[in-house]
Amino acid sequence: MISIAEALARMMPAYEPVGVERVGLLEADGRFLAEELRARRDLPPFDNSAMDGYAVRASELASACAQAPAVMPVAGESRAGGPLPAPLGEGTVLRIFTGAPLPEGADSVVIQEDTDRDGDRVHVRVAPRPGAHVRARGSDLEAGSVMLARGAHLCAGEIALLASQGISHVTVFRRPVVALLSTGDELRDVSDPPEPGTIVNTNAFALAALVQSAGAVPRVLPVAPDDADAITRALEDALRADVVLSTGGVSVGEYDFVHEALRRAGVTVDLWKVRIKPGKPITFGTRGRVPVVGLPGNPVSAAVTFEVFVRPGLRRMLGDPAPHPSPVVVELAEPHERKAGRIELARASLAREEGRLLARLSRLQGSGSLPSMVGADAVVILPAGRGRFEAGERLEALVLRHRGQGHSVFEGLE
Ligand code: AMP
Ligand code: MG
Repeated sequence: MISIAEALARMMPAYEPVGVERVGLLEADGRFLAEELRARRDLPPFDNSAMDGYAVRASELASACAQAPAVMPVAGESRAGGPLPAPLGEGTVLRIFTGAPLPEGADSVVIQEDTDRDGDRVHVRVAPRPGAHVRARGSDLEAGSVMLARGAHLCAGEIALLASQGISHVTVFRRPVVALLSTGDELRDVSDPPEPGTIVNTNAFALAALVQSAGAVPRVLPVAPDDADAITRALEDALRADVVLSTGGVSVGEYDFVHEALRRAGVTVDLWKVRIKPGKPITFGTRGRVPVVGLPGNPVSAAVTFEVFVRPGLRRMLGDPAPHPSPVVVELAEPHERKAGRIELARASLAREEGRLLARLSRLQGSGSLPSMVGADAVVILPAGRGRFEAGERLEALVLRHRGQGHSVFEGLE
């Protein structure tokens, strides 16, 4: 059996981006840029005022002070979106508003609060520092400079920057389509009546949610029965997607036909069985460029092995240059006892208490126990070989979801 790290090292190169597509900015959130983009325009695109006030030549007001304000004629105004102002005549100032173009010849803005208006003249009480309150053309970004690198994660800020450049569409990595194939004679659809000996195919729903949360597109296939021919046929269909995730049938029982079907479908199996709890029988292979992951059937095992072996792969396919999740450090709220053995990923809820991130492990840690996933905010990594963990012990965890709190972080702050 190999370690998680070794399994990941073998799998990750197989999760390769599956091409690129052009999307509009409204569809770009969360995507990864597949091209390097240079600025087309200076930002700001023109010298403009950061405040409401007067555009001036600082040298003409060097001696202005509260005791002896400079009295200047106001030659007109410049407002955001208004007509472009004429060059500033010598010995004059221009009324100006936030975002408005600075007239040629002006180099500073005196804020309104430092002046007194008197008809068509203004008394300036403060000598401006040259350049004061001016947002200079190109001071944020110069045309021609690299604005976003290939692999940049597009979120609100990046998308707004693209818009500022008149860029309405960008080339991003395509979302991989992930075929979800559940195997098992006992599985029924959610709306089928319950019959003795059957269970609902919950993995399809759990995995579809997980695939979507990773930014990929789930394609749920019909359940395949425990039969090598049927699973082979289902795999052929599944292999038209970019990634195949099967669940169930990868153990060593007489009714575990997935390995046989993988062979028949021409999938090269690169690894089977990893030192992890839950999820030991996980299987990974490829056919051509399509990664095929055989997840265990137990719902908790399937969800946990998805987090460990599939989510980082899908992130890589989406073009994420840093596809592995950053762990958080948690403190165990209570002592925990288990049989010392494999590295274990234990479901836990997280709560912030007095600045510490406390993890409460679910009492049910069985790999088939669906309720142990309910309310699970994280999986805590229990290192191999140890059976007892103390309250207050610090361990690394992978966050599954971020839970809010009932009060605002700003409560009590000035
Ligand atoms: P297997 O990996 O096929 O041996 O299945 C292990 C356990 O997971 C068995 O109890 C199955 O009934 C259960 N199981 C397998 N597939 C699913 C599924 N798609 N949804 C819910 N439970 C499943
Ligand atoms: Mg089965």
